[in-house]
Amino acid sequence: MNKILVVEDSRVITKILKRLIAKDTSIVPYFAASFAETSLLCDQHDNFSGALVDLHLPDAPNGEALEYVLSKAIPTVVLTTEQSEQKRKQWFDAGIVDYVVKESRYSYEYALTVLKRLDINSQQKILIVDDSSISRNFMRNALKPHGFIIFEAENGRQGMEILRREDDIKLVLTDYHMPIMDGIQLAQQARMHFPSTQLGIIGLSSNETQSLSVKFIKHGANDFLHKPFSTEELLCRVLHNLDMLYLVEKIEEEADRDYLTGLNNRRYLFRQGERLLSNACIDNTPISLAVIDIDHFKQINDLYGHDCGDEALCLFSKLLHEHFSNYLLARIGGEEFCVLTPGVKSSECAVLLESMRVDLRDLSLQWKGQPIKMTFSAGISDHIADDLSSMINDADAELYRAKQSGRDCILIASLQSESAA
Ligand code: GH3
Ligand code: MG
Ligand code: MG
Repeated sequence: MNKILVVEDSRVITKILKRLIAKDTSIVPYFAASFAETSLLCDQHDNFSGALVDLHLPDAPNGEALEYVLSKAIPTVVLTTEQSEQKRKQWFDAGIVDYVVKESRYSYEYALTVLKRLDINSQQKILIVDDSSISRNFMRNALKPHGFIIFEAENGRQGMEILRREDDIKLVLTDYHMPIMDGIQLAQQARMHFPSTQLGIIGLSSNETQSLSVKFIKHGANDFLHKPFSTEELLCRVLHNLDMLYLVEKIEEEADRDYLTGLNNRRYLFRQGERLLSNACIDNTPISLAVIDIDHFKQINDLYGHDCGDEALCLFSKLLHEHFSNYLLARIGGEEFCVLTPGVKSSECAVLLESMRVDLRDLSLQWKGQPIKMTFSAGISDHIADDLSSMINDADAELYRAKQSGRDCILIASLQSESAA
């Protein structure tokens, strides 16, 4: 929840902002139309996550409200009609997050987006690598109002050490000329461990040769910035690169998820599963795989309709998730699911599934006043194979036997049945 202070005396602008904010349930706004109201609200509330502040108020005509809100350490976006570059520099030096020129509805939408992303920023790690402490301080101070978690290194080698230690750093800002290891060597090494869709790298240099930006990008950087740059230029590049990474992350998440049930899909199962399987091989630890299929599911569709079938799939998925949240779970077909349990032998996996079978017996889907019951059958294999498909085939063969032997049961692939097959 974003609790936001809006300081604005214009009724027209307040109305536009109210309308925009009303569409967004994640924002809780508090409005002040004067300096007096601003200080009253700040006295009453000490946990604003951000503020939008107009510079000209009837009782504070010269930006006093901005100074006051910044003194309360509230991340602030300035609302202004001012176009002077000199003024903008002053505000950034004073520690504002950003400013918007009161021009169009889009400006206000942008301001709200900036305030909302502060919440995400507080979990984003940025690494600054530069041998000049003045340069590092400048960048740290520019990024600080946005709430990022900042790490600093004096050369590429230190940078690499931090990247390995904190494996969820999102963005690296790296100078070129540094002792021990330069920025291009750092970009090269970082790319051996982190793809450009996971870690952004922005190269920095005051070197005049244009080929340096090309060299940086060809060796793995996502972007390049010539020194000296203004706070605003740095922020634009940083936020733009983070936006791109965030979008890629969201697209990847969506591509891995089953739309109906919210469980992982087959694509995700294979990607993660092959890795878990090879770890089990290397460590010589047990791993089991179960294929789970709802019994006579077609009858639910035929009797109550497809919508009811969908609801049944969601209910079943929820129960699966409750029982197997510590393991790799996926929907691999219409009413077919798969769970991979590292460190678990097939007999232990059967116990876990049996507990779910018992819970499902007590559960029914309420559909238009009617209770609908479900059962499932499952086949389990713990024969570590070269690939996941072979393990799935083993478990699938047991599932087939479970269906043949009357359904609502769990069978384990034995070495004997494997050799018989
Ligand atoms: P068995 O016990 O042998 O598994 O019988 P079954 O009826 O469960 O299996 P069958 O393969 O004959 O039918 C599965 C049905 O699942 C057919 C298909 O229309 C339905 N189905 C697949 N995906 C979805 C879905 O996303 N929503 C709904 N409502 N039905 C689905
Ligand atoms: Mg340097
Ligand atoms: Mg079925």
